Amino acid sequence: MRLSRYFMPILKENPKEAEIVSHRLMLRAGMIRQQSQGIYSWLPLGKRVLDKVNAIIRDEQNRAGAIELSMPTLQSAELWQESGRYDAYGKEMLRIKDRQDRPMLYGPTNEEMVTDIFRSSVKSYKDLPLNLYHIQLKFRDEIRPRFGTMRSREFMMKDAYSFDLTREGAEHSYNKMFAAYLRTFDRLGLRAIPMRADTGPIGGNLSHEFIILADTGESEVFCHKDFVGFDIPDDRTDFDSIEGLKSIFDKWTSLYAATSEMHDEAAFNAVPEGDRLSARGIEVGHIFYFGTKYSEAMGAKVQGPDGKEHFVHMGSYGIGPTRLVPAIIEASHDDNGIIWPASVAPFDIVVINMKAGDQACDDTCELIYAALTKAGKDVLYDDTDDRAGTKFATADLIGVPVQIIAGPRAVANGEVEVKDRKTGARETMTIEAAINRFVA
Ligand code: ATP
Ligand code: MG
Repeated sequence: MRLSRYFMPILKENPKEAEIVSHRLMLRAGMIRQQSQGIYSWLPLGKRVLDKVNAIIRDEQNRAGAIELSMPTLQSAELWQESGRYDAYGKEMLRIKDRQDRPMLYGPTNEEMVTDIFRSSVKSYKDLPLNLYHIQLKFRDEIRPRFGTMRSREFMMKDAYSFDLTREGAEHSYNKMFAAYLRTFDRLGLRAIPMRADTGPIGGNLSHEFIILADTGESEVFCHKDFVGFDIPDDRTDFDSIEGLKSIFDKWTSLYAATSEMHDEAAFNAVPEGDRLSARGIEVGHIFYFGTKYSEAMGAKVQGPDGKEHFVHMGSYGIGPTRLVPAIIEASHDDNGIIWPASVAPFDIVVINMKAGDQACDDTCELIYAALTKAGKDVLYDDTDDRAGTKFATADLIGVPVQIIAGPRAVANGEVEVKDRKTGARETMTIEAAINRFVA
């Protein structure tokens, strides 16, 4: 992508409305724009990051055996009347009427809809287990939308829903998502700790929130500090192994970890004082097992091996991609801007032409840009005629992991500078060496 032809509206000034660093940096880097309270556009740079986050979430959902579909944002009130949640949900639900005066709503979550899909076509235990997910916009009319997309009214959620014949089966489905979440957050460059959580209006009795420790987090959390160093389930994890996944779950729940709603002072005080971590955190994911709550209310049953009908055991599993993007920034930035983990960076490399219009600089940058693009890298080429200082500041602000800098003096020697955004380390090398480093 040539910056001269791109749309990346950088702000020079610090936006006054932004209270936390991630919100400030997302606005300054031109990633998002607020359209009305708690409702955002994702501008091209932000969209690239969001897409990369979603790709990782999707990859890990698929690995764990979940199957993607797409459900609509608008739902009929009827389904929610069946489950009893149409009245229970309260003011967070945005209620709408269509031209026939039929009550509709903008989905805050999809348990009812997915249960309807399930009951319309699954009739036998032979079709279980089943886990269906989508990545879709949600709307919740939050009382206090704030911190940009961290807590917005319209936001994106990956929500998965599992269906099993028995409670034991449902626990295995829960453990699959538990392990998938550990892997997902790790690939996003985050350390998320599963904490015992309240089940809230979704209901049920087994639930964990995945929390990232951050001073700006809205949740108050308490946990054993050893979680920070625990191993993440690796690529060889067998999601069909009931024992294997149970042991991951057992390990990751063996020490104290709870949000303030579930906090047990006495149990926490039993942790040796030096091992206690009491901190603030950002909830980036939440998983629930809620048994037959919706299947009974909505008549979702299958024929079991005993020939009888059984209400299915269900769970639901949410991750907030539009919250994860600012959460990643909260965890990874410095005074100059964002520092993206390579896995979600909007571009892999930025090529900075320090003197656009200078034949040697232009030729060098074009050569590098073409070679790296051909090698499958996402490259941003700053070919604008801004001052070098402005270009450096922009490159640091938008947090692309690698900068290749071509200035007249180095280029005259057939060289460029390669800068690592995170460490700030710079290395001068031949143009060929710079290309080879990233093509290999
Ligand atoms: P919170 O406690 O932060 O209000 P929640 O418990 O209501 O969230 P869930 O129903 O568990 O949220 O939703 C699953 C995930 O969706 C959350 O873990 C979070 O990542 C994301 N999410 C929920 N509400 C919002 C929001 N208003 N803005 C952005 N992301 C959200
Ligand atoms: Mg929650």
